[in-house]
Amino acid sequence: MDKSAGATTLPFDPALCQLRVGLEIHQQLATSTKLFCPCPIMKSEELPLSFERRLRPTQSELGQIDPAAVFEFNKGRVNLYKWNPESACLVDSDEEPPHPPNNEAIETAILMAEILGSNMVDEVHVMRKLVIDGSNTSGFQRTAIIALGGALPVDGPNLVQVGVQTITVEEDSSRVLKEGAQAREYALDRLGVPLVEIALDHVVGVPEDVEAIALSLGRSLRSTGRVARGQGTIRQDLNVSLLGGEVVEVKGVQKLNLIAKVVRYEATRQMGLVKIAEEIKKRGINEVECKAENATQVMERTTSPVLKRILQKGGAVTCVAVAGFGGLFGLEPFPGIRLGRELAEIARTNGLGGVIHSDEFAKQGVSEQEAIALRALTGFDSSAGLVLVAGETAERVGTVAALVVDRVRRAPIGVLGETRAATEDGETKYQRPRPGAARMYPETDIPEIVVTEEWKRKLRMMMPVPWKEKVAAYSKKYSLSEEAALQLYDSDNSRLFEELAGKLKLEPSVIASMLVEIPVRLSREGIDESKITAEALSAVLAAVDAGRFAKEAAIDVLRSIGKGDARDVDEAVSKLGLTGMSDAELNKIIIGVVQRNKALIEDKGERAFSVLMGEVMKLARGRVDGQKVSRLLRQAIDKGA
Ligand SMILES: [Zn+2]
Repeated sequence: MDKSAGATTLPFDPALCQLRVGLEIHQQLATSTKLFCPCPIMKSEELPLSFERRLRPTQSELGQIDPAAVFEFNKGRVNLYKWNPESACLVDSDEEPPHPPNNEAIETAILMAEILGSNMVDEVHVMRKLVIDGSNTSGFQRTAIIALGGALPVDGPNLVQVGVQTITVEEDSSRVLKEGAQAREYALDRLGVPLVEIALDHVVGVPEDVEAIALSLGRSLRSTGRVARGQGTIRQDLNVSLLGGEVVEVKGVQKLNLIAKVVRYEATRQMGLVKIAEEIKKRGINEVECKAENATQVMERTTSPVLKRILQKGGAVTCVAVAGFGGLFGLEPFPGIRLGRELAEIARTNGLGGVIHSDEFAKQGVSEQEAIALRALTGFDSSAGLVLVAGETAERVGTVAALVVDRVRRAPIGVLGETRAATEDGETKYQRPRPGAARMYPETDIPEIVVTEEWKRKLRMMMPVPWKEKVAAYSKKYSLSEEAALQLYDSDNSRLFEELAGKLKLEPSVIASMLVEIPVRLSREGIDESKITAEALSAVLAAVDAGRFAKEAAIDVLRSIGKGDARDVDEAVSKLGLTGMSDAELNKIIIGVVQRNKALIEDKGERAFSVLMGEVMKLARGRVDGQKVSRLLRQAIDKGA
C-alpha cells in the first residue's frame, strides 16, 4: 500500500513560487474556569463517565449545508465522550444552556487587542460555528469577535510587522483520545477551555518569516501573564498557497520550531501536485475519464498478501481505472510527493489502510495476469492507471472508491483547497475538504456583552510591560546576557527565576541557565515535561544552593524524579549516591589523577588541565562543585602534587 513517509529535506525555492502563508494562532488562556461554565481547567487522568452521540449536519439559518459537515457525516462515525465531573458538567455535554462568558477571558482578549493596536468591537456577540467532526458535543463551537485590525511588530530578518485581521475568543474542542474507523473517543476536560484566536494577514515570503511571526506573537501574548503554558496550550494553523493557487489549511502545528518545516513541506507538496498536473496536460488529458468496478471476484486468488488478508475476512475490492494515467500515481516530482500518496491518505482518513496503485503492483504482489484481468474488467487499455481500494465492508470500499474517483478527476487542477493536519515530524496529511463559508449563526442563549468605555479605561491601566522591555530589564537587573534573558523569557520558568534569584545565593546566571537548559535537555531525552514541575526545580536548586550536591548533578536528580525513580530530591540524592564529598576525599581523588597524568602535564602544561578536570569530575560523579574542583586541581598541579 502506498503509505511511505516522505523525505525530510526537500529542494524548494519559495522566491520562485509566490508562497503565501496566513497564520492563525490559538492560545489557551490561564483563566480559573472554562468559558461558558464554572468547571475548573484541568486535565483529568480518570474519565469514569461516558455517553455516545452521532451528530447530523443541520441546515444553518442560511439554508446551506456545509460540505465539510456532510463529508464528516458521510463517514458514519459514532462519537464516544468520556468525562469526569471534576472537569466537565452538563454544559459540556450540551444538556444545559451555556452560562454568560468568563469575564477574565474577555478581558485578556481586550488586553491583547490593546497590545496589537486592534479596534475593539462595541458589543461582543457570541456566535455558533458549525463543527461536525464530533470535537464538540453540540455540533458547533461558540466564538466571539473581540477586535478587528491592528499590527504585530515582528522580530525577524525580513519583516518589520504584519497586519492583524481579527481577535476572537472561543471555546476549545474536546481532546481526542482514540480515532477509529467507526468511532472516535473524546475527553471533555478540554472542551470549553477559553482560547484567543488571532488571525494575521498573509505574508509573501519564506518559511522562516512565518516562524519569526509566530515567535513574536507568542511573546506578545505571554507578556500579559494571562496565557496557559506547556505542551498543547498554543496551536498554530497555517493557510498555505502557491502561485496564486488554492489555499490549503494546515491545522494544529504545536511546536514553534516546526512551523518553517511544515510550511516548506506543504509548499513542496503543492509544487509537486502542480508538476503532476502539468504532466497530465502534457499527455493531452483535459478531462479525466475513469471508472470504478467491483473487482472482488477478479482478485479472488490474488498473490498480494495485503489483499489476501482482506479477502479472507470476507472483504471487498474495487478497481478504479483512469485512462492515460499509467505511471502517474507513482510519479515523484519531489521525494515523497506522489498522487498515489494523496489517494492513500484519503483512504486512511476514511477508515481503510491505504490503496494499491498500478505503479506499485509488483512491489505489492499483484501479478501481471491480475493487472490484465483488471483492465479487461474495466475495458481500459494498458495506458490506464489502476487503483485498488480494499476493505472489510463493501459499503466502506464503495465510499472510498467514490472519493478516489472524485480526487483523480480533479488531478488536472493541481492543488485542491482542503484541510490538512500537521504531523509531528513536520509534514502534513489529508483531513477533509475545506469548510464552506456558511458556518456561523448567532448563539441565542447568550446576550451580547457591551464593552463600555469605562471597562476599556480600567483595562488600559492593567497594560503589561512589552516583552522586549521585560527582557531588557532581566538582562540589566540580573546581569544576564541578552540571549540568556530572552531564553529565560521564552521558557516556562521566568517567574520561578525571579523568585529563586531573590532568595538563593547562587549567581542569577547559573539559576537562569539551569532553569532554561535542564528542562529542554530532559525533554529531548523523552522525559515527560509535566513531571519537571516548578516545585521539583525549586527544590533541586535550593539543594544545590545549600551545597548538598554540585550543580552538575542537578540534571541527574531531576531525571530521576522525572522518570519516577525517585519521588523527591531526598530520595533521588540517596538513590544516586550524591551525598556530599569531604575535602579530604576530594583531595585524594585529585592527587591520584595528577599522579597518573604526570607525563601529560609535563608534555602539555596548562593544556592538560581540561583533561584532568574531566577525569576528576567523572570520579566525583556530581558530588562536588566544579569550581571547587578547578581551584583545588590547579593548586595540586602547581605544587606538582
Ligand atoms: Zn463545565
